[in-house]
Amino acid sequence: MIEGKIVTIGEILVEIMATTLGHGFLEAQTLIGPFPSGAPAIFIDQVGKLGHPAAIVSAVGDDDFGTVNLERLKQDGVDVSAVAIHPGAATGSAFVRYRPDGGRDFVFNMRDSAAGRIAATPEAQAVLAEAGHLHVMGSGLPVPAVFGMVSASIPAIKARGGTVSFDPNIRVEMLRDPAGKAAFQSVLAATDLFLPSGEELSLFSGEADEGRAIAALLDAGVQEIVLKRGKAGASHFDRSGRTDMPGFVVEEIDPTGAGDSFGATFLVARRLDKSVEDCLRYANAAGARTVTVKGPMEGTSSFAELDAFIAATPVGAA
Ligand code: ATP
Ligand code: MG
Repeated sequence: MIEGKIVTIGEILVEIMATTLGHGFLEAQTLIGPFPSGAPAIFIDQVGKLGHPAAIVSAVGDDDFGTVNLERLKQDGVDVSAVAIHPGAATGSAFVRYRPDGGRDFVFNMRDSAAGRIAATPEAQAVLAEAGHLHVMGSGLPVPAVFGMVSASIPAIKARGGTVSFDPNIRVEMLRDPAGKAAFQSVLAATDLFLPSGEELSLFSGEADEGRAIAALLDAGVQEIVLKRGKAGASHFDRSGRTDMPGFVVEEIDPTGAGDSFGATFLVARRLDKSVEDCLRYANAAGARTVTVKGPMEGTSSFAELDAFIAATPVGAA
């Protein structure tokens, strides 16, 4: 492992949630928020809380939604020098309502918000030039400047001995677009640690069977794969084999952000040279803590909080 910050690039949003279950936003209703959000922002907040040097390349508007995010990230130890503040633009937002069946309806304002204007500013280039690790979040790749920075910085980071992780965080439509698919495949080819969940594994490998999908990705050069399995926990795969870790038993209040907190925690623990078992246990604990509170970034954790949680919380059936 080389020294240096963990850096990610992508959207900062606020999330505003319906307080009742139902379908969408077609009638006036009670909402709660704004909560700091955006998959890359949740991820990097969790890195900062664990005490690892962290920075994000992003953009917000000069409004309260931007301030809410910047203050939280700073408070949790994240370098926000490469977050551009666009006068006159609105910070991105996501309105979310859970359906009775556990599905979600969204109203997103991302492309037309400050998050759609992320650019390779001098501050962004300065942060990327000293990164020891780049975490790529697939949700940001459709913004051309984000993909441009990712593509340009991967060879430079690798050339100085740094590493790359990739959470596809994908919506199926992104892979239907040929340019989108090519973007995802090019990042995958450079990925040291791949962090898929659910059907993302088969979408990327083209193999429906889990074992064959893993083998295909390892053959393609991915060093480590951690498959997130929701409340069932997670599995780690590399050339030497497989390690399964059951999840913790908690009451799920709000699942958003679990995968991002999980990924950040696995990565930081791995960079601290903890065993695969310990990394999986810490990451499962971070994901589980996230789902117990409303708001995607409200349940991010320090190592002390994770240790206390692990000591106090039962583990599910293997
Ligand atoms: P996201 O919705 O953030 O994209 P994801 O699909 O990437 O999430 P999940 O598998 O849903 O990832 O969750 C990540 C991790 O969080 C799981 O591997 C598990 O450790 C933990 N986790 C998620 N949901 C629960 C739950 N209901 N109970 C316990 N642990 C959970
Ligand atoms: Mg995910």
